[in-house]
Amino acid sequence: MDHFANITAHLADLELDALLLTNEANRFYASGFHSAGTDGAALVTRRAVYYFTDSRYTEAAGRALPDGVVLREVGRGRGYAALTEEVVQAERLSRVGFEDAYMTVADYERYRKALSCQLVPAAELLWRLRQVKDAEEREAMVAAQRIAERALEDILGEIRPGVTEKEIAARLQYLMLHYGASDMSFDPIVVSGPNGSLPHGVPSEKAIQSGEFVTMDLGCVYHGYCSDMTRTVAVGHVTEEMRAVYETVLAAQAAGIAAARAGVTGRAVDGAARAVIEQAGYGAYFGHSFGHGVGVEIHESPNASPMNETPLPAGAVISAEPGIYLPGRLGVRIEDVILLTEEGCEDITLAPKELLIL
Ligand code: ZN
Ligand code: ZN
Repeated sequence: MDHFANITAHLADLELDALLLTNEANRFYASGFHSAGTDGAALVTRRAVYYFTDSRYTEAAGRALPDGVVLREVGRGRGYAALTEEVVQAERLSRVGFEDAYMTVADYERYRKALSCQLVPAAELLWRLRQVKDAEEREAMVAAQRIAERALEDILGEIRPGVTEKEIAARLQYLMLHYGASDMSFDPIVVSGPNGSLPHGVPSEKAIQSGEFVTMDLGCVYHGYCSDMTRTVAVGHVTEEMRAVYETVLAAQAAGIAAARAGVTGRAVDGAARAVIEQAGYGAYFGHSFGHGVGVEIHESPNASPMNETPLPAGAVISAEPGIYLPGRLGVRIEDVILLTEEGCEDITLAPKELLIL
């Protein structure tokens, strides 16, 4: 993974001499090398790329960073701001972009005092670049999706009355790591019966009972990229209402997916799914948006939400996850991830989604 050239190519449009990347996800996107939290910084100038980190990472960074990246180590009295200033002086940089959306006030003050250049807010560039996935990123995301699907397939054989939400969540985590994930995209959500009305409920000691829905929202990381998927299954039997809610959510998802393509706004995609839920009389019970961008982070740009009036770009990967949540009674969410193309979209989630009664 090496996206430094994409960044360099945009410096001139933004009238920047360089861009300083301090955010963990952006550093990884740019370099393909992962250093945790605040343990690194990348400085992309029009002439060169620098990566600053500390001695715990130097050897690994040296192996993993793309050819040509200048690696420098922070040390006592020579922190990130000091290393940045050395380049500012050597290359006579006057306008340096920084990630205004992420940098703490304390760090900003530290850089501002240490640097002899102007600091220009530029977080928006990386949001824009990261929206469009290249072939290597798509491949990682499809692989992450396949791993989550294998875990789901195994867990379906283990869900029965008496098993707790927490046990299912623990097994899902184990299975995704077992099948090759490096991490979870987020802690799996497993909610059953009345807990299903909590869209982001935390798995509890509650045992699954016959006649309940079980909603599982899971995703893992592979080669630095996330997957995200939700399936709701029933145990034992379903009522007419459960079936109606499930079929409505499934039809809403299909409508959103049918509307999703590059050039259409996030609002229009969300609206296509929302209309189905509203027509079925459940409009008040679908509180969140249809989808969010997925990539290095589990939630990133662009959103398929009523707020997003911007056309979605080709190459974006977004979730398609309508839900209906009846407070204190039940909930259903079905989530795939889709890749937007000029003609439409490609659903990269293959797990079956017709109503399954275990
Ligand atoms: Zn999800
Ligand atoms: Zn999601």
